[in-house]
Amino acid sequence: MRKKIVAGNWKMNKTYSEAVPLLYEIKDLLFKSKKAESVIKIIAPPSLYIHDFYETTKGLKNLFVGAQNCSYEESGAYTGEVSATMLKSVGAAYIIIGHSERRSYFKETAEELKKKTEITLKHGLTPIFCIGETMEKRQANEHFKIVEAQITDSLFHLSPADFQKIVLAYEPVWAIGTGLTATTAQAQEMHHHIRSLVEKKYGNAVSSEISILYGGSCNEKNAAELFACPDVDGGLIGGAALKAKEFIEIIHSFPA
Ligand code: PEP
Repeated sequence: MRKKIVAGNWKMNKTYSEAVPLLYEIKDLLFKSKKAESVIKIIAPPSLYIHDFYETTKGLKNLFVGAQNCSYEESGAYTGEVSATMLKSVGAAYIIIGHSERRSYFKETAEELKKKTEITLKHGLTPIFCIGETMEKRQANEHFKIVEAQITDSLFHLSPADFQKIVLAYEPVWAIGTGLTATTAQAQEMHHHIRSLVEKKYGNAVSSEISILYGGSCNEKNAAELFACPDVDGGLIGGAALKAKEFIEIIHSFPA
C-alpha cells in the first residue's frame, strides 16, 4: 500500500519565538485528530529548529521532522553547510532535495542533487525529491521531457532497493507560492507520467509503491480533489503549512 503523506515546508519563515507556538498549535490539533493518525506527517522547519521540533513532537503517531536541504559532503571544511548525519543526529528523518527554489536561486545542479540524494540514503534518511517544470516549459509543451530529465539525471542510477525508499514531489514551478494550482487533470496526467517512467525503469513492484506528492499552492480548499487523483499520494505544502488549522485540514483531505 502506498503511503499517504503530507509534508510542510516552512522555508525561511518564523523566528524561534513564532515557530514554537505554531508547532504547539499543530501538535494540539493532531493529538485531537484520530483521522490524521494514519497519514505520514512531516514538518520541515528551518534546520536550527529541528532538534526542538523532534523533542516536542515525540509520541505523535506518524509525525516526522524533516530538513529542507543538506550538504552533499560528509563533513569537514565546508563553512555554512549542514550535513545529512548532523540533521539525522538532531532528529530529522526526511530531507527535501531539489526544491525549485534551491535549483533556481542557489543554482543546484542535477549532479549535486544526485550526490545529496545518495548521501541522504546512505545515512538512512528519506529524500523527498522535487521535480517540476516552469510555465515557459509547459507552454512549449516540454513539461514531460523536463520532468523526465530531472528524474533520469539525478535518480535513475539508483538501485531499485534505494529508489523505492524515495518520495517524489511533483511541484510545477509556476504553481509554487503563486496561488495558481495545477488542475486535477494536469496533476494526475503528470503523476501518471512519472509513475510510468518509474515502472519502465524499475518495474511495477517499485512504481506501484512509490509515493508521489503534489506541491504548488495546495491548500485546505483544493487538497481533497487533488488527493482524490489516483496517482497523487499527498502533498508538499508551503504557505498553508504555516497555518495550523489549514495544515490539519489538508491532512484530513484524503479520500476515506
Ligand atoms: C513549496 O514550496 O514546496 C510549495 C509547494 O509552496 P506553496 O504551497 O506555498 O506553493
